[in-house]
Amino acid sequence: MRSKIVAGNWKMNNDANASKTLANELVAGLKDKSLQNTRVVVAPTFVNLTAVHEVVSGSVVEVAAQNMHQAKSGAFTGEISAEMLTSIGLKSVILGHSERREYFGETDALLAEKVTAALANGLEVIFCFGELLEDRKSENHFAVVESQISNALFSLDAGAWKQLVLAYEPVWAIGTGETATADQAQEMHAFIRKIVADKYDAALAEEVSILYGGSCKPGNAKEIFSKEDVDGGLIGGAALQAADFIAIIEAIQ
Ligand code: PEP
Repeated sequence: MRSKIVAGNWKMNNDANASKTLANELVAGLKDKSLQNTRVVVAPTFVNLTAVHEVVSGSVVEVAAQNMHQAKSGAFTGEISAEMLTSIGLKSVILGHSERREYFGETDALLAEKVTAALANGLEVIFCFGELLEDRKSENHFAVVESQISNALFSLDAGAWKQLVLAYEPVWAIGTGETATADQAQEMHAFIRKIVADKYDAALAEEVSILYGGSCKPGNAKEIFSKEDVDGGLIGGAALQAADFIAIIEAIQ
């Protein structure tokens, strides 16, 4: 059975103290909850990964990085490699977030390299993709999502998919307060599962967790998560308050 996952992307928020405080609040708030087949992941900034990892150690909370470089090491000032992430005990990395694509020029081709490097180092990849508003308005959203997935992931062999989590994040819904309706999310998630099944096979597609991201909040999470192909959420703004993030986790139970 595929896992349900609620992942919080803290983006460039929270200094060292705020990161540890939020991590402690999550550990305390989740301590007595029995989560059914649900993983909880948080992605702090690079400089706070180790501290947060220490705080959550022994709890249900896992830690992921928000990005990584595709090379093993070398003259890439300011960058972090997959090996560096695994060397501090990390098991997951988010790749392909729309902010990386938009502000840092990350292309499908570059993301394919990053995914390959992450998987080769044993990291799980939470792979983000999603259409722009103009794509949806021009009814191009399925084609855009299909090309993002196929360009970055369809050269992988079937075995690699065990280390992949997909995150559908319509760009028009990220940080805007505008959410895809639960039906729009379900429609796209079912489409994604179908193209993965067509490329690989139905059993593999059934096992892939597909998260929804885009202004997911305590008030709308339950409805979105009730859809059969929505396996959880990648949460931005609402992941910065422990109470909201925990309420979203509770919404998937
Ligand atoms: C995100 O950036 O991944 C995201 C979903 O952000 P928000 O929840 O703030 O829309």
